[in-house]
Amino acid sequence: MNDTAILTAAERERILAKSALFDPPTAALPDGRRDLVGLSRDELAAEIAAIGEASFRVKQIWHWIYHQGATDFSRMSSIAKPLQQKLAERFVIGRPAVATEQTSVDDTRKWLFRFRDGQEAETVYIPDPEEDRGAVCISSQVGCTLSCRFCHTGTQTLVRNLGAPEIVGQFMAARDSYGEWPSPKGETPRLLSTIVLMGMGEPLYNYANVAKAMRIVMDNEGIGLSRRRITLSTSGVVPMMDRCGAELGVNLAVSLHAVTDDLRDELVPLNRKYPIAEVLAACRRYPSASNARRITFEYIMLKGVNDSEAEARELVRLIAGLPAKVNLIPFNPWPGSKYEPSTKAALDKFARIVNEAGFASPVRTPRGRDILAACGQLRTESRRERAAVSS
Ligand code: SAH
Ligand code: SF4
Repeated sequence: MNDTAILTAAERERILAKSALFDPPTAALPDGRRDLVGLSRDELAAEIAAIGEASFRVKQIWHWIYHQGATDFSRMSSIAKPLQQKLAERFVIGRPAVATEQTSVDDTRKWLFRFRDGQEAETVYIPDPEEDRGAVCISSQVGCTLSCRFCHTGTQTLVRNLGAPEIVGQFMAARDSYGEWPSPKGETPRLLSTIVLMGMGEPLYNYANVAKAMRIVMDNEGIGLSRRRITLSTSGVVPMMDRCGAELGVNLAVSLHAVTDDLRDELVPLNRKYPIAEVLAACRRYPSASNARRITFEYIMLKGVNDSEAEARELVRLIAGLPAKVNLIPFNPWPGSKYEPSTKAALDKFARIVNEAGFASPVRTPRGRDILAACGQLRTESRRERAAVSS
């Protein structure tokens, strides 16, 4: 290993250790039963072995939980009644509670999910108007440690990480809401077949739980989403980008938003730690940076702040040679926000320059603005206990 690699590895360990301090409480219910959702295959196997059952049951139970979407052991028809009962005495197949559910005029749906300790996070389903499918936008943390100036979540200090059961649970509860599990005839779900980790929080500051959850949803004998159907969005946690690429290989989206370090330092304060050049170098190292699976750069369009033609040209220069596309995101206002969305003329001009340089530059149509479900509008009332006590 060279010096940089050693430093990066040390930094990664530091990030993982710090992140673990924000992990959720363990999953046992007040009655002592344990939730099977969110356990890895090996953990599930250990639970089943601990109650003296044969290992082939693991595959069966996994299939019922993640392929069929069963929440009740009595539905597990391949398992005899006495064992169903034994399982029900010891375990549950949990879901986060739906605190509220809202559907936008454009059919986007947003849930406020409440977890066992009362903390809450939001999840959004964004149907594709042209196809009969869509993406589930999942939160990775309650609040966020970073405080990007344009982001509503960034005004809520980090309360805690979401655990793997809570991350997988958001997706499963969203599927429940649409009845999206295989029908008795065996038809597979289509609507909720893509995951974007673009909700509340910075997924790479909760890497261990996010990775565990994504391995569960990618498992072929369960939900079985391919890594191509998962996109993780990061504000640029460089050491963890390498880890994510090597271990998960999901699609990567990077929130760039500015082309100079001065401006990015202000908009995305994490830039002071990992400046633009380092973020782009990590993108070039990312294993999916091949033509078939481009890296997405997210660029929020803020009127008079980062939306000039010169900035569009500089953006193109910075990402030259990378298999990339640029997602231009019109700024979504929220109560108290200080920015304004770019004009349509500025957006169009910016998009044209990027496009003429050979990069796809779709403008992300804001979805669910009427229910504050659009990018960067998510926020909950959850607070850290300690903060509440001291205030
Ligand atoms: N923390 C991660 C993922 C969650 S944010 C990240 O920052 O990438 C998902 C996307 O929404 C990011 O690109 C973020 O910059 C963008 N976003 C945040 N606030 C926004 C707003 N008010 N309007 C539009 N997009 C916003
Ligand atoms: Fe956190 Fe992403 Fe919002 Fe920045 S944009 S505050 S990293 S959720």
